Amino acid sequence: MNRRERRALAKATRLDPRAVQYVESYKCPDCDSVAGEVTRDQHGVHHATILHDPTCPRLNGITH
Ligand SMILES: [Zn+2]
Repeated sequence: MNRRERRALAKATRLDPRAVQYVESYKCPDCDSVAGEVTRDQHGVHHATILHDPTCPRLNGITH
């Protein structure tokens, strides 16, 4: 990977503060969830982990 590619990758994977803010403000309607890690892949797509309570019905895939 050359310098130009490294810089492009760093730019694509830099977190958008608006996305981070959205994830931090997200609350599961069924439990007392907390926001986990926010990442951004090489395509510029953000990924967020929401940590639900172990008893949350959403963990069973019934609702989304
Ligand atoms: Zn939940």
